[in-house]
Amino acid sequence: MRKYVIMGPQGSGKGTQAKLLCHDYDLVHVSTGDLLRWNVQSHTRLGARVQRIMAAGQLVPDELTEDMVRARLDLHDWNYGFVLDGFPRNPAQARWFTERWDVDAVILVDIPDDVVMERGLARRLCCKCGRDYNLLHHRPAVADTCDVCQGRLVSRPDDTAEGLRARLADYHAQTRPVLELFTRKERVVVVDGRRAIDTIQLEIRQHLGLPMLVNA
Ligand code: AMP
Repeated sequence: MRKYVIMGPQGSGKGTQAKLLCHDYDLVHVSTGDLLRWNVQSHTRLGARVQRIMAAGQLVPDELTEDMVRARLDLHDWNYGFVLDGFPRNPAQARWFTERWDVDAVILVDIPDDVVMERGLARRLCCKCGRDYNLLHHRPAVADTCDVCQGRLVSRPDDTAEGLRARLADYHAQTRPVLELFTRKERVVVVDGRRAIDTIQLEIRQHLGLPMLVNA
């Protein structure tokens, strides 16, 4: 059983790193941002409550995200473990979480603020399949069109300069202290998120002592 929390500012690539880990080691990717976006797109009651908060780049109230995380982890479909992405986001959520679950390590994918802004403004998502693109480093072959499903590429509503600055301020004020809390209790692995995706992934696996997979 492998249980990890992955942290990092928006645009650090933590979601990409989490997905690679989950794919190769049969872990379940639990992303609170993805779960909340699914609720908004599916017009659930939770979605209606959080839509405006999320579009403004603000944090959703703790009890809503905590209930959602509890319900997701209580499914116990994570036979080999999970990677929790986007949670905990502040010290209250961290205390709530550590009272209920142990993790094997916390992974921090770190990038400086100017890179957060640059990457956030260049980020595009496919509105059909959700694939991530970046107009700086990962351009689609045809402008504004997904390479895989030909869906239209759009910006996330919170990836405006204002939304990015609000989330960055939250990250420094609320999420970084979580890391200090974890540093006292858990193993924290820090990797530099400015490098190539594969290089970062390899370093994470080495730090976590994961077996290297030949056919991965
Ligand atoms: P993300 O995809 O992780 O950047 O999350 C997108 C948005 O979802 C955030 O800007 C928040 O509005 C909301 N969100 C995700 N996770 C949390 C959390 N743990 N606590 C509060 N709000 C969250």
